[in-house]
Amino acid sequence: MLTSDKFHDECGVVAIFAHPEAEKLAYLGLHALQHRGQESAGIVSSDGLNLHQHKAMGLVADIFTEDVLRPLHGSIAIGHTRYSTAGDSALLNAQPILVQSNKGAIALAHNGNLVNAQHIRQRLESQGSIFQTNSDTEVIVHLIALSREHTLPDAIADALRRVEGAFSLVMMSADRVFAARDPRGFRPLAMGRIAATEGHTRDTIVFASETCAFDLIGAEYVREVKPGELIVVGPDEITSRFYSTSAAQSSCIFEHVYFSRPDSMVFGRAVQTSRENLGRQLAKESPVEADLVVPVPDSGVTAAVGYAAESGIPFRFALIRNHYVGRTFIEPRQSVRDFGVKLKLNPVRSLLEGKRVVLIDDSIVRGTTSRKIVRMIRNAGAREVHMRISCPPTVSSCYYGVDTPSRTQLIAANKSIDEIRDYIGADSLAYLSLEGLKKACGEGEPTRYCTACYTGNYPTDIIDVEEILPAVVRR
Ligand code: SF4
Repeated sequence: MLTSDKFHDECGVVAIFAHPEAEKLAYLGLHALQHRGQESAGIVSSDGLNLHQHKAMGLVADIFTEDVLRPLHGSIAIGHTRYSTAGDSALLNAQPILVQSNKGAIALAHNGNLVNAQHIRQRLESQGSIFQTNSDTEVIVHLIALSREHTLPDAIADALRRVEGAFSLVMMSADRVFAARDPRGFRPLAMGRIAATEGHTRDTIVFASETCAFDLIGAEYVREVKPGELIVVGPDEITSRFYSTSAAQSSCIFEHVYFSRPDSMVFGRAVQTSRENLGRQLAKESPVEADLVVPVPDSGVTAAVGYAAESGIPFRFALIRNHYVGRTFIEPRQSVRDFGVKLKLNPVRSLLEGKRVVLIDDSIVRGTTSRKIVRMIRNAGAREVHMRISCPPTVSSCYYGVDTPSRTQLIAANKSIDEIRDYIGADSLAYLSLEGLKKACGEGEPTRYCTACYTGNYPTDIIDVEEILPAVVRR
């Protein structure tokens, strides 16, 4: 992620069943999913009888040292890396959530956001339930514990039928792993397999938000967990059931535009293919006479490759990103204009001088960063700057697990495209059309997408937008 003037990723989840070093595979999987959340991370493992956990604030590689992983040694594990979207970002709300219930010890890790969590919570609290966190995820645990169903899979299915919104979940008991997606399939969740070897005699089953986690642990992609599906992986068998089939699919199209890594398969489709298509489609819809196609790194790179290929205009890395930027900086007393952006990006003057530039990015949120980057490119000598955005204007907030600012802060919700062009100081500005976006991401073959942040048409009818706060992070 380049700057805070971006949408924030949500969370990443991983689960490992039947591996002699499940905790280490969970750790590696989380490491591959670090881009989905950088505030906290946790792993719960099972030694066959008891569950053990460790959660902390920070990055996966900093939290999980050899000493921390040693007591987590087990054959089953789940993990979570978090960027808070509901509940604040304190350690209390880090996941997985581990509880002792009347159905035994269970741990749960959640990617997404429930839109009826407050409503359920108030009802359960009025009936005597005591919540330990202010995360929306905890209502699922309470609903499982309170379910009248007698088996854990039945209780989980019962609980999932009562919650609304976005959830890709991995759960575990001492001897089983559970994986489920909400009936609309907002967030991704894939299943993979590591074939048995001499060291371990049965196949290992894994689940992860994105398949880039499989690559690191040597797992092969098997399939998506389907919307409304609950998969149970136990000592003797793998079972699947559909606890709900009532809703139309609405998977988050922004996973393909921005969130997921380009080396991942998401919703059964290669993100790289979608993202390059976005650039190609953008070049068809909004061509311009220019000398260079330049991406805003890293977010605009793949779409820029597509734009350059379609338009025939040369692609150049004319903005160089500093990869070693932490969170806080000491700024000189005499303030430097656009200091924050300059720390992270620097223009290549020798490429830009006298050139007409097509600048590609994946979104404009508030517009402040785009304005600074356009100014930076002009100051480096570019003759013209034409900004192209590989998705439509973002006009609405997300309530399904993506941290978007409120409508008042979204520039496209408050200004026309001409006004935005004037604000960022570009010679021209064009966004991809909604039809172009859907086409580039393969709408309908076989995935149907949510596009609510571009249209304001929310797929859940229960949502009372005025009453639900957009996801915010309180620091
Ligand atoms: Fe994704 Fe936008 Fe829908 Fe949220 S509103 S799930 S970001 S497409």
